[in-house]
Parts: sequence; structure tokens; C-alpha cells
Amino acid sequence: MSALVLLGFIAAKAATDVSVVVLSRHRPTELAVRASACTVDERRTDVASIRVHDGAVQFCPSTGACTTHGTARLSCASDISLTMPGEAARRYGRALNVRVDKGVLRVVANVSLESYTSAVVASELYATENAALDAVSVVVRTYAAHARARPRHDDAMLCDLTHCQVMKTVATTGASVDAAARTRGQVLVQRDKTVAPVFHHAACGGHTIAATALWPDRALRDVIGVPDRDAKGRAFCAASPHATWVSEVDDVAVARALSRALDRPFDAPSLALEPKDDDGIRFVARDAHGETEISGLALTRAIGRELTWSVVKSQRFVVERAGRKLRIKGTGFGHRVGLCQEGTRARARAGASASAILRAYFPKFTVASVDDTSESGRLPRSP
Ligand SMILES: [Zn+2]
Ligand SMILES: [Zn+2]
Repeated sequence: MSALVLLGFIAAKAATDVSVVVLSRHRPTELAVRASACTVDERRTDVASIRVHDGAVQFCPSTGACTTHGTARLSCASDISLTMPGEAARRYGRALNVRVDKGVLRVVANVSLESYTSAVVASELYATENAALDAVSVVVRTYAAHARARPRHDDAMLCDLTHCQVMKTVATTGASVDAAARTRGQVLVQRDKTVAPVFHHAACGGHTIAATALWPDRALRDVIGVPDRDAKGRAFCAASPHATWVSEVDDVAVARALSRALDRPFDAPSLALEPKDDDGIRFVARDAHGETEISGLALTRAIGRELTWSVVKSQRFVVERAGRKLRIKGTGFGHRVGLCQEGTRARARAGASASAILRAYFPKFTVASVDDTSESGRLPRSP
């Protein structure tokens, strides 16, 4: 193959794939493999399992000797299915890069953009309405196309956790596959035809917020806050169990969370928390020692880390004291930026089309084919 043809091959491959670090939360040390006609580093071999052995990766056939590698690429003629002990098999694309990182397997899967899109939609959205599935498919694909040009991890464009978008397993049939097919290649773009920065969350509570309110970055200025209410003024996501919520927590636990986050002691009995604005962008934490400002995002994270992540579902909340308890009353679930998933479902049920839904949450962006974006010609090579 000439260098030019090879370059074209790599570019074409990169244009259709995304690399995703998978299973990292499970810290796998051994994975059963099912796939056909595989090679490890281009050598034809039968692979039944992958495991950590003496700080290196070992590929083992069903019978015979294992081979040991530093980093290796497993490439197969079929999708590769991986199974952790006691778990259901998960299906990924046809190639994986595997190495050992801090004693566990670090697996980066290469998945086609379309398979990735349907896999995330199946993992993130519980919807049956086509318009909702289609709108979310476009947003999920856009998020991936954006990460492809600006990888979110050192060794992969994306991970399979909420840090990026949740991806459990590649689906081959079902509503999410049909939605990806109906919207094939469609992404949201900015006026200059670059792939738009997009976000989605579970429920906004009646109004989304501007991305720059949480992450001050000029590149995000067109992800604006929009009302998410019907003609009668009712929040589209009002039916969601997360639209409004209440949690009660011990003041001592919150004081401990604040002490860690702000690096000063907090006196639990005198502790009070007050938002400085309607969206919970900034809060004041007050106690017998004085008052300190903290961003809503940092506060939510600090409490989530100290207790559990479900205690504070979004950063839009007020806090009342009830004896030694703090009663946290909030609205929405997630960061409330971009597409509201519950609102999307309600809009679809009320008859909105996918394009109307996308226009409502992203009024500054338009839909285009991923091949027509200005990034399509200069994508990094998939690892
Ligand atoms: Zn990530
Ligand atoms: Zn909403």
C-alpha cells in the first residue's frame, strides 16, 4: 500500500470511529472474550480471555499458551463481546486497545460513530417516542463528533461513564438503533460549520441554564439557557420525579463536606447555606466563624462525595434548617445545561418533531451532516 493510500485509509477509518475507554469503573483484571477471526498485534490468534499477569496484559486462547504484551491491539472480524465474572456480556466494536494501568485492564474500544450513538441512547434515555429518540440521537452523536476533534481523555476520545456519556453495550436491534438510522450522520453545528458543543441532562425543572454560567469558556457562549415550559407555563419536565426533590442530611456531614472543599473548619450547629442567585451558580456558606462563597457545582460535588450523589440532584436548591438536619429542596436533575431529557419526552408526546425539539434547546445551532462539518477533514487518528 502506498503512503498516500494508507493515509487515506486511516483518515476514512478515523472519520467513522470513536474510541471509548470502557469498563474502567469495574476495575477489571480478567475478561472473557467472544469474537471470531481475531488478531493480536496483527498475529492471527484465538482469544478466549484477557487478564493482568505480572503487570502486563495476557491474551489466552481456550487451550494452549497465553501471550504477554505491554500494550496490544485486539482486532476481530466480528464485534467483540467482553464478560466480567458474574456480569452479562457487553458488546463493543471490532477492535480494542488493551494495556495494564495501576494493576487493572485499561480497555479502549473502537466503535463506529453510529453504533456509539445508538448504544448511548439505549443507555441514557428511556423513551418510546420517535421524535424524542431522534432528537437525543442527534445530540449524542454531536457530543461524540465534538470529542473526536477534542479528545476528553489522554488515551481515548470518550469514556463510558457520566463524565462523558453512559455507554453500556453496543446494540444491534431496537428503538435506539432505528433512531440512529433515521438520523444517520446528523449533528448540530455552529454558524462556522464546526461541530457544536452540546450537553444533555435528566431534568431542568422548567428552565435550562447557560453553559458559561457553570464553565466560563467563550467556546460555550452559544449554549444558552432557555425556558422549558408549555403554553400554559407548566414545566415540560414537571412530571419527572426529579423535577422537584427534597433531601434531609445531618448538618455534621455537610459541615465536613464544606471543610474538605473550602479548607477551613465549619461549625455544624451554626451552619447555613444560601444561594446567591436563582440558578444556584454561587452559594454563601455561613457559620459562627464567618461566611465563604462557593460555586453551586463545587458545593454539589462536595456533598455528593461526602454522602451519596443522589442527595443533591442539581445545583438549584435552597436549604432550611430542621433541628440538627438540613432540609435541601431542589429543582431538576443534572447540570441543567442543553437538552432536558424529560422535557424532550414530554414535547415529543405533545407532538413536537425532533427538529423542533432541537431548536427549542439549542436555538443557536443547526443540523448538518457530520461529513460537512469543518472538522471532518482533520480528525485525529483513532488509537
Ligand atoms: Zn469521560
Ligand atoms: Zn426540563
